[in-house]
Amino acid sequence: MHDLVIIGAGPAGMAAAIYAMRAKLDAVVIEKEGCGGQMAQTYEVDNYPGLPGLSGMELGEKMKEHAAKLGTNIVYDEVKSINNQDERFILHLESGQTLESKGIILATGATHAKLGVPGEDRLAGAGVSYCATCDGAFFKNKSVAVIGGGDVAIEDAIFLSRMASSVTLIHRRNELRGAASLQEALKKCENVSILWDTVVEEINGQYSVESLSLRNVKDNEDFNLIVQGVFVAVGINPVKAAMDGLNCNEKGYIVAGEDCRTNIKGVYAVGDVRSKNLRQIVTAVADGANAITSFTEDFR
Ligand code: NAP
Repeated sequence: MHDLVIIGAGPAGMAAAIYAMRAKLDAVVIEKEGCGGQMAQTYEVDNYPGLPGLSGMELGEKMKEHAAKLGTNIVYDEVKSINNQDERFILHLESGQTLESKGIILATGATHAKLGVPGEDRLAGAGVSYCATCDGAFFKNKSVAVIGGGDVAIEDAIFLSRMASSVTLIHRRNELRGAASLQEALKKCENVSILWDTVVEEINGQYSVESLSLRNVKDNEDFNLIVQGVFVAVGINPVKAAMDGLNCNEKGYIVAGEDCRTNIKGVYAVGDVRSKNLRQIVTAVADGANAITSFTEDFR
């Protein structure tokens, strides 16, 4: 039986693994895709102390190397269910393997939200994208739109401005939500324009994206924008845990304080999946450390 199973190898999961190894716990990390989580889709991380300018992929690799150096075992598999029996957890994995542990750290993170307009699902992968760093290169010298006003939308618009001929950032209000430093960098991108107070009504195109039907929410005027690509960056949704009985808030985030303890003894929520005010890499790694401290106190 393991001491801990850490589910997810984003920054929160990796930090938990590093702290678990240093606490000499028997911990295993289960990751269904690649290390780094959402961070891996960021072309440049500029707010992680001491390591400015790395790409999210590079920072994820560094965290993985650090965890591996301390002996972390990362298993690439998916947790399908977790049962709580006789003060131990039994996890069933996609591969058919079963694991047992005293504790669970849920570091499953979040995934992109959808816009929910006609054409979005039909044209997903045919001009509709949720990842500028993954798909941006397909839009070299093309016109693209980015939807949203948060950090991700601004980062996407800046990144895409380096390859697309023009980028239109479409935001439903007249003020961006993203960091001031990002807004300043955005202003310097000559081929980026912003459509304020504008919402997308429909994404149009027969086989691939051809245009967007838009509406100005101030004067209610409808208009069209010709684009070949649309990058949706309208926020995130937590990834649901494969476990019953967890207290979640109205948005689906697992309710836990700074100590990361959930309502179930031995289960800790870390990183973006936890209810919190600030979702950043630094707050995710802090959660990883706090969860290990809580676990060692609870099972001392
Ligand atoms: P976010 O901060 O929640 O921003 C989502 C944006 O999409 C908001 O501007 C929101 O508008 C808009 N929006 C939401 N639903 C919409 C809809 N149906 N139609 C049109 N627009 C809609 O999400 P995010 O940018 O994906 O970032 C997620 C989290 O990761 C945030 O906590 C963010 O700070 C963090 N993050 C940080 C960094 C960094 O520090 N460099 C980088 C990436 C992400 P309103 O503004 O009107 O609500």
